Amino acid sequence: MKWHELALNEDKNTRHVLGLSGGKDSAALAIYIKDHYPKISEKMEYFFSDTGSELQEVYETLDRLEAYLGREITRLSSGKPFEHWLKMHGNYLPSPRERWCTLMMKIKPFERFVGDDPVISYIGIRADENREGYISKKPTIKAVFPFVEDGIVREDVFQKLENSIGIPKYYEWRSRSGCYFCFFQRQDEWLGLKRRHPDLFEEAKRIEREVSKKKFDWVKGEVEECGQGYTWNQSGTLDEIVARAEEKEKTKRVSKTKGTQKWQDLLKSESYDDDPEDQACLICSL
Ligand code: SF4
Repeated sequence: MKWHELALNEDKNTRHVLGLSGGKDSAALAIYIKDHYPKISEKMEYFFSDTGSELQEVYETLDRLEAYLGREITRLSSGKPFEHWLKMHGNYLPSPRERWCTLMMKIKPFERFVGDDPVISYIGIRADENREGYISKKPTIKAVFPFVEDGIVREDVFQKLENSIGIPKYYEWRSRSGCYFCFFQRQDEWLGLKRRHPDLFEEAKRIEREVSKKKFDWVKGEVEECGQGYTWNQSGTLDEIVARAEEKEKTKRVSKTKGTQKWQDLLKSESYDDDPEDQACLICSL
Protein backbone atom coordinates (compact mmCIF):
# COMPACT_ATOMS: atom_id res chain seq x y z
CA MET A 1 0.00 0.00 0.00
CA LYS A 2 1.33 3.45 -0.92
CA TRP A 3 1.98 5.92 1.91
CA HIS A 4 -0.97 8.15 1.02
CA GLU A 5 -3.39 5.20 0.80
CA LEU A 6 -2.24 4.09 4.21
CA ALA A 7 -2.64 7.63 5.55
CA LEU A 8 -6.17 7.98 4.19
CA ASN A 9 -7.24 4.51 5.32
CA GLU A 10 -6.12 4.77 8.93
CA ASP A 11 -8.91 5.02 11.48
CA LYS A 12 -10.02 8.31 13.03
CA ASN A 13 -7.99 7.84 16.20
CA THR A 14 -4.67 7.74 14.39
CA ARG A 15 -2.74 10.97 14.64
CA HIS A 16 -0.73 12.30 11.72
CA VAL A 17 2.38 14.18 12.73
CA LEU A 18 5.12 15.90 10.79
CA GLY A 19 8.20 17.04 12.65
CA LEU A 20 9.84 20.19 11.33
CA SER A 21 13.49 20.72 12.07
CA GLY A 22 13.76 24.15 10.45
CA GLY A 23 15.69 22.36 7.69
CA LYS A 24 14.85 22.14 4.00
CA ASP A 25 13.57 18.55 3.65
CA SER A 26 10.93 18.54 6.39
CA ALA A 27 9.73 22.00 5.32
CA ALA A 28 9.51 20.85 1.70
CA LEU A 29 7.61 17.74 2.79
CA ALA A 30 4.99 19.81 4.61
CA ILE A 31 4.61 21.97 1.49
CA TYR A 32 4.49 18.93 -0.81
CA ILE A 33 1.74 17.26 1.20
CA LYS A 34 -0.28 20.46 1.42
CA ASP A 35 -0.02 21.06 -2.34
CA HIS A 36 -0.56 17.49 -3.53
CA TYR A 37 -2.43 15.69 -0.76
CA PRO A 38 -4.65 18.34 0.86
CA LYS A 39 -6.84 15.72 2.60
CA ILE A 40 -3.83 14.38 4.45
CA SER A 41 -2.53 17.88 5.15
CA GLU A 42 -5.83 18.75 6.84
CA LYS A 43 -5.26 16.01 9.41
CA MET A 44 -1.62 16.87 10.01
CA GLU A 45 -0.19 18.09 13.31
CA TYR A 46 3.04 19.98 12.76
CA PHE A 47 5.59 20.20 15.51
CA PHE A 48 9.05 21.53 16.17
CA SER A 49 11.25 20.33 19.05
CA ASP A 50 12.87 23.52 20.26
CA THR A 51 16.11 23.08 22.18
CA GLY A 52 16.26 26.78 23.04
CA SER A 53 19.63 26.86 21.26
CA GLU A 54 18.36 27.30 17.72
CA LEU A 55 19.41 29.95 15.24
CA GLN A 56 17.17 32.95 14.64
CA GLU A 57 17.00 31.87 10.96
CA VAL A 58 15.28 28.65 12.01
CA TYR A 59 12.48 30.57 13.72
CA GLU A 60 12.13 32.78 10.65
CA THR A 61 11.76 29.69 8.44
CA LEU A 62 9.13 28.25 10.77
CA ASP A 63 7.19 31.54 10.73
CA ARG A 64 7.18 31.60 6.94
CA LEU A 65 6.10 27.98 6.85
CA GLU A 66 3.24 28.60 9.29
CA ALA A 67 2.04 31.40 7.03
CA TYR A 68 2.24 29.18 3.93
CA LEU A 69 0.52 26.21 5.55
CA GLY A 70 -2.03 28.41 7.30
CA ARG A 71 -1.48 26.23 10.34
CA GLU A 72 0.24 26.48 13.67
CA ILE A 73 3.45 24.58 14.29
CA THR A 74 3.39 23.28 17.87
CA ARG A 75 6.62 24.11 19.68
CA LEU A 76 7.82 21.30 21.95
CA SER A 77 10.44 21.67 24.63
CA SER A 78 12.31 19.59 27.17
CA GLY A 79 11.41 22.29 29.68
CA LYS A 80 15.06 22.92 30.56
CA PRO A 81 17.92 24.67 28.78
CA PHE A 82 20.92 22.87 27.30
CA GLU A 83 23.14 23.67 30.26
CA HIS A 84 20.80 21.87 32.62
CA TRP A 85 21.15 18.68 30.57
CA LEU A 86 24.87 19.24 30.29
CA LYS A 87 25.15 19.27 34.07
CA MET A 88 22.98 16.14 34.28
CA HIS A 89 25.44 14.45 31.93
CA GLY A 90 28.46 15.19 34.08
CA ASN A 91 29.46 18.28 32.09
CA TYR A 92 30.32 15.98 29.24
CA LEU A 93 29.60 17.67 25.89
CA PRO A 94 27.44 15.68 23.46
CA SER A 95 29.20 14.17 20.46
CA PRO A 96 28.35 11.94 17.48
CA ARG A 97 28.76 8.90 19.74
CA GLU A 98 27.06 10.38 22.79
CA ARG A 99 24.04 12.18 21.41
CA TRP A 100 22.25 12.69 24.70
CA CYS A 101 21.20 16.15 23.47
CA THR A 102 19.00 14.70 20.72
CA LEU A 103 17.44 12.22 23.07
CA MET A 104 16.73 14.64 25.93
CA MET A 105 15.87 17.79 23.96
CA LYS A 106 14.23 16.45 20.80
CA ILE A 107 13.11 12.82 20.98
CA LYS A 108 11.71 12.72 24.52
CA PRO A 109 9.60 15.86 24.03
CA PHE A 110 8.31 14.28 20.81
CA GLU A 111 7.41 11.04 22.60
CA ARG A 112 5.60 13.00 25.32
CA PHE A 113 3.72 14.89 22.61
CA VAL A 114 2.35 11.72 20.97
CA GLY A 115 1.95 9.72 24.20
CA ASP A 116 0.61 6.23 23.50
CA ASP A 117 -1.64 7.33 20.66
CA PRO A 118 -1.39 5.49 17.36
CA VAL A 119 0.62 7.78 15.13
CA ILE A 120 1.78 8.06 11.55
CA SER A 121 4.97 10.09 11.46
CA TYR A 122 5.86 11.66 8.10
CA ILE A 123 9.61 11.71 7.48
CA GLY A 124 11.32 13.89 4.86
CA ILE A 125 14.08 11.52 3.79
CA ARG A 126 14.49 11.90 0.02
CA ALA A 127 14.62 9.32 -2.75
CA ASP A 128 18.27 10.20 -3.48
CA GLU A 129 19.46 9.53 0.07
CA ASN A 130 20.79 6.38 1.52
CA ARG A 131 19.75 6.52 5.13
CA GLU A 132 17.05 4.89 7.14
CA GLY A 133 16.56 7.50 9.81
CA TYR A 134 15.57 7.23 13.40
CA ILE A 135 13.02 9.27 15.24
CA SER A 136 11.51 7.04 17.89
CA LYS A 137 11.37 3.36 18.66
CA LYS A 138 7.87 3.49 20.12
CA PRO A 139 5.79 0.65 18.64
CA THR A 140 2.73 2.94 18.34
CA ILE A 141 4.58 5.16 15.85
CA LYS A 142 4.55 4.17 12.21
CA ALA A 143 6.98 6.07 9.99
CA VAL A 144 6.19 6.80 6.34
CA PHE A 145 8.56 8.23 3.72
CA PRO A 146 6.58 10.09 1.04
CA PHE A 147 9.63 11.52 -0.77
CA VAL A 148 11.25 8.10 -1.04
CA GLU A 149 8.06 6.52 -2.42
CA ASP A 150 7.29 9.42 -4.77
CA GLY A 151 10.85 9.76 -6.09
CA ILE A 152 11.46 13.30 -4.78
CA VAL A 153 15.16 14.25 -4.89
CA ARG A 154 17.30 17.15 -3.59
CA GLU A 155 16.72 19.35 -6.60
CA ASP A 156 12.94 18.98 -6.27
CA VAL A 157 13.22 20.03 -2.64
CA PHE A 158 15.10 23.22 -3.53
CA GLN A 159 12.63 23.98 -6.29
CA LYS A 160 9.66 23.61 -3.95
CA LEU A 161 11.23 25.92 -1.40
CA GLU A 162 12.25 28.49 -3.99
CA ASN A 163 8.65 28.53 -5.25
CA SER A 164 7.10 28.90 -1.80
CA ILE A 165 8.80 30.05 1.42
CA GLY A 166 12.35 30.49 0.09
CA ILE A 167 15.51 28.60 1.06
CA PRO A 168 16.30 28.90 4.80
CA LYS A 169 18.91 31.66 5.16
CA TYR A 170 21.45 29.69 7.13
CA TYR A 171 22.13 27.51 4.06
CA GLU A 172 24.33 30.40 2.91
CA TRP A 173 26.91 29.28 5.45
CA ARG A 174 25.70 26.07 7.06
CA SER A 175 24.58 22.73 5.67
CA ARG A 176 21.89 21.86 8.20
CA SER A 177 19.58 23.23 10.85
CA GLY A 178 19.96 22.45 14.55
CA CYS A 179 21.57 24.00 17.60
CA TYR A 180 24.06 26.80 17.01
CA PHE A 181 26.75 24.75 18.77
CA CYS A 182 25.95 21.47 17.01
CA PHE A 183 29.04 19.25 16.99
CA PHE A 184 28.14 18.04 13.50
CA GLN A 185 29.30 21.38 12.12
CA ARG A 186 32.26 21.34 9.80
CA GLN A 187 35.21 23.66 10.30
CA ASP A 188 33.98 26.20 7.78
CA GLU A 189 30.56 26.19 9.41
CA TRP A 190 32.07 27.13 12.77
CA LEU A 191 33.76 29.95 10.91
CA GLY A 192 30.38 30.89 9.44
CA LEU A 193 28.90 30.96 12.95
CA LYS A 194 31.69 33.23 14.13
CA ARG A 195 31.02 35.66 11.28
CA ARG A 196 27.21 35.60 11.23
CA HIS A 197 26.55 35.20 14.94
CA PRO A 198 29.66 36.26 16.85
CA ASP A 199 27.72 36.32 20.13
CA LEU A 200 26.65 32.69 19.72
CA PHE A 201 30.16 31.68 18.75
CA GLU A 202 31.46 33.28 21.95
CA GLU A 203 28.75 31.47 23.90
CA ALA A 204 29.81 28.12 22.39
CA LYS A 205 33.40 28.94 23.36
CA ARG A 206 32.35 29.79 26.90
CA ILE A 207 30.57 26.43 27.27
CA GLU A 208 33.61 24.66 25.86
CA ARG A 209 35.92 26.50 28.26
CA GLU A 210 33.77 25.59 31.22
CA VAL A 211 33.85 21.86 30.54
CA SER A 212 37.44 21.73 29.36
CA LYS A 213 40.09 19.78 31.17
CA LYS A 214 43.65 20.98 31.41
CA LYS A 215 46.75 18.92 30.91
CA PHE A 216 50.40 19.78 31.27
CA ASP A 217 52.62 20.03 28.20
CA TRP A 218 56.39 20.40 28.75
CA VAL A 219 56.71 22.89 25.89
CA LYS A 220 53.48 24.91 26.16
CA GLY A 221 52.76 24.58 29.87
CA GLU A 222 49.10 24.08 30.79
CA VAL A 223 46.94 23.38 27.71
CA GLU A 224 43.31 22.41 27.16
CA GLU A 225 42.68 18.75 26.57
CA CYS A 226 40.82 18.17 23.29
CA GLY A 227 38.62 15.24 22.39
CA GLN A 228 35.29 13.63 23.01
CA GLY A 229 33.33 15.39 25.72
CA TYR A 230 35.95 18.08 26.34
CA THR A 231 35.60 20.12 23.14
CA TRP A 232 32.80 20.46 20.57
CA ASN A 233 35.06 18.95 17.94
CA GLN A 234 37.50 16.11 18.50
CA SER A 235 40.26 17.84 16.59
CA GLY A 236 40.66 20.95 18.72
CA THR A 237 39.18 23.93 20.51
CA LEU A 238 36.84 26.24 18.61
CA ASP A 239 39.57 28.82 18.20
CA GLU A 240 41.87 26.21 16.65
CA ILE A 241 39.11 24.92 14.36
CA VAL A 242 38.25 28.40 13.13
CA ALA A 243 41.90 29.25 12.58
CA ARG A 244 42.25 26.15 10.39
CA ALA A 245 39.08 27.05 8.47
CA GLU A 246 40.42 30.56 7.80
CA GLU A 247 43.67 29.09 6.56
CA LYS A 248 41.82 26.71 4.24
CA GLU A 249 39.68 29.56 2.97
CA LYS A 250 42.77 31.58 2.05
CA THR A 251 44.17 28.65 0.07
CA LYS A 252 40.84 28.19 -1.71
CA ARG A 253 40.68 31.87 -2.58
CA VAL A 254 44.09 31.61 -4.18
CA SER A 255 43.14 28.58 -6.26
CA LYS A 256 39.74 30.19 -7.10
CA THR A 257 38.18 26.82 -7.87
CA LYS A 258 34.68 27.68 -6.69
CA GLY A 259 34.70 31.44 -6.70
CA THR A 260 31.96 31.95 -9.26
CA GLN A 261 29.48 29.37 -8.00
CA LYS A 262 26.35 30.43 -6.19
CA TRP A 263 25.73 28.88 -2.78
CA GLN A 264 22.66 27.08 -4.15
CA ASP A 265 24.85 25.40 -6.79
CA LEU A 266 27.37 24.35 -4.17
CA LEU A 267 24.74 22.83 -1.99
CA LYS A 268 23.11 21.01 -4.85
CA SER A 269 26.38 19.53 -6.02
CA GLU A 270 27.86 18.48 -2.68
CA SER A 271 26.46 15.63 -0.62
CA TYR A 272 26.46 17.66 2.56
CA ASP A 273 23.50 15.93 4.08
CA ASP A 274 24.17 12.31 3.25
CA ASP A 275 26.51 11.81 6.14
CA PRO A 276 25.81 8.38 7.70
CA GLU A 277 26.93 9.82 11.06
CA ASP A 278 23.72 11.85 10.99
CA GLN A 279 21.40 8.87 11.29
CA ALA A 280 20.18 9.58 14.81
CA CYS A 281 19.87 13.26 14.22
CA LEU A 282 17.15 13.46 11.61
CA ILE A 283 14.78 15.11 14.03
CA CYS A 284 17.33 17.93 14.35
CA SER A 285 18.31 18.57 10.80
CA LEU A 286 16.16 16.93 8.17
S1 SF4 B 1 21.23 19.81 16.54
FE1 SF4 B 1 23.15 18.86 17.17
S2 SF4 B 1 23.53 19.65 19.25
FE2 SF4 B 1 21.36 20.05 18.77
S3 SF4 B 1 20.25 18.30 19.57
FE3 SF4 B 1 20.73 17.82 17.44
S4 SF4 B 1 22.69 16.71 17.50
FE4 SF4 B 1 22.42 17.74 19.47
